[in-house]
Amino acid sequence: MRYISTRGNAPVLDFENVTLAGLAADGGLYLPERWPTLSRDEIASLAGLSYVDTAVAVMAPFVGDSLSREELRALCAEAYGRFDHAAVTPLVQLDGRNWLLELFHGPTLAFKDVALQLLGLLFERFLRNRDTHLTVVGATSGDTGSAAIDALAGRAKVDIFMLHPQGRVSDVQRRQMTTVLAPNVHNIAIDGSFDDAQALVKAMFADRDFAGKFSLSAVNSINWARLMAQVVYYFYAAVRLGAPDRPVAFSVPTGNFGDVFAGYVAQRMGLPIARLIVATNVNDILHRALSAGDYSVGGVTPTAAPSMDIQVSSNFERLLFDLHGRDGAALAAAMQGFETSRSMSLAPAMREEAGGLFTSARIDPDAMSLAMRSASETACMLIDPHTAIGLAAAKATDLPADVPVVTLATAHPAKFRDAVERATGQRPLLPKRLGGLFEREERFAQLPAEIGPIEAYIAERAIPTG
Ligand SMILES: *Cc1c(COP(=O)(O)O)cnc(C)c1O
Repeated sequence: MRYISTRGNAPVLDFENVTLAGLAADGGLYLPERWPTLSRDEIASLAGLSYVDTAVAVMAPFVGDSLSREELRALCAEAYGRFDHAAVTPLVQLDGRNWLLELFHGPTLAFKDVALQLLGLLFERFLRNRDTHLTVVGATSGDTGSAAIDALAGRAKVDIFMLHPQGRVSDVQRRQMTTVLAPNVHNIAIDGSFDDAQALVKAMFADRDFAGKFSLSAVNSINWARLMAQVVYYFYAAVRLGAPDRPVAFSVPTGNFGDVFAGYVAQRMGLPIARLIVATNVNDILHRALSAGDYSVGGVTPTAAPSMDIQVSSNFERLLFDLHGRDGAALAAAMQGFETSRSMSLAPAMREEAGGLFTSARIDPDAMSLAMRSASETACMLIDPHTAIGLAAAKATDLPADVPVVTLATAHPAKFRDAVERATGQRPLLPKRLGGLFEREERFAQLPAEIGPIEAYIAERAIPTG
C-alpha cells in the first residue's frame, strides 16, 4: 500500500514511513493511494471474531508489507491487552434502537487510547532497525497528553515532551500525565494558555535546525496510523448489529474530524453505513460546512466538552480531497485560499456528495445536559458530556425505524465528573485502575511560555540524530 499527500506534492510513502512522518512535506495529510475493500463475504466472516482478530483483518491491507500478519497480530494483542474490558470496545444497548460503543476502557479512559496504544508500539517496532531516535513534542489541554504519554512511556528510542498550560487542566488530567515517571516522559507546565502551548510547539517544528537535529515528531490525529486504528471499531460494532445484511448508523462526537473520518474509511471499504452523524457542540464549523457549505473559522467558545472546542478540523482536509476528485493541486489551491481568508465555501455538488453519507447536528449546552440526565434516568447510565452530544445528535436525526444507531462513547464519565454531577446529581466514581492517582508522586518542569528556555530544556534531555 502506498500513501499520497492531499496536496499532491510530497514523496509517496509506504506504511512504515507514513507512520513515522505524520504531516506531509507539502503541508498536506497522507492518505492511501486507493481505498482497499472487503467483500460482503469477508465482512460476514468477521462475525464472532475477537477485537484483535477484527483489527488484523481490517488493518492488514493498509499495513501492506511493512509488517507480517503475525507481527501485526502481536502488536494488536499487546495494545488491546491493556484495555480493562474483554471486548475492548463493548457495545451497550440503551433503548430500542440506540446503542453506545464504549471506547473508553483503555489506560487513560479516553477513546484516544484505542489508536495511541497501537501507535506507540508501531513507533518502537519501526525504529528498532533504524539509526534514529524520535523526539515527540506536543501540547495538550488534557486528554491527548495523557493518552500519548501512557502509550509512549518506556518505549525504546522515543522521548516525549508534553506541554500543558499550568493550572488550566483538571487535577485528574494533570496527575494522569505527571505521575508517569518513566525516564523518557517529560512534562512541562508552561506559564500560559493552551493556545500559547500550541504556538510554542508549532514554532519548534518551524525551527528547522532544532526540528532536524532532534527528529521532532507529532502524535496528533493527522497521523494516518491513528485513523487506521479507529476504522476497526466501526466494523466490530456494525458486524455485531447485523452487517453486512443490515446497515447501521453512527453518531460521532466530533472535534478534529479524525474519528468520524475513520467511519468514512470503513464505508469506502465496503461496510454498509446508513449515516454518519457529525455531532458538534456550539463550536460548529463542521455543522455549518456540511449543512450550508460554510466552512469558515469562528472564535472558540469553551464548553463542558473541551475535546470538541475547536476552530478548524484538520482532518476535514482528507474528506475535501475526495470531494475534489482526489486532485491534489486543486485542493492545495483551495487550502491556500482557506488559510488566507479563513473561510471556504463548499460547492453544491460537493455538499450533495457528502450529504449522501454525512449529516450533522449542533448541540447546545442545555440539550447536552438533557441527554446526560435522560440516559441516567431512563437507562441508569452515566455518560460524559462528549458522548451526550453524540447521543443528542443521534436522537435529533431522522432515520428509518429499522436502522440501529450507534453513538460513540468517547470518554469515561469519571473524566468529567463535575459536569456529569451538575447534569445528573450523581458523581461518577474513578475506576479502580486510577486508584491511588492522588497519592502518587508527580514530576514536571515549570517553564515560561518562551521558545528559548523550552528548546534549551529539550536539547539537554533529547537525543540528537546522527
Ligand atoms: C478527541 C476527542 C473527541 C473528538 O475526536 P476527533 O477525532 O478530534 O473528532 C471527542 N471526544 C473526546 C472525549 C475526545 O477526547
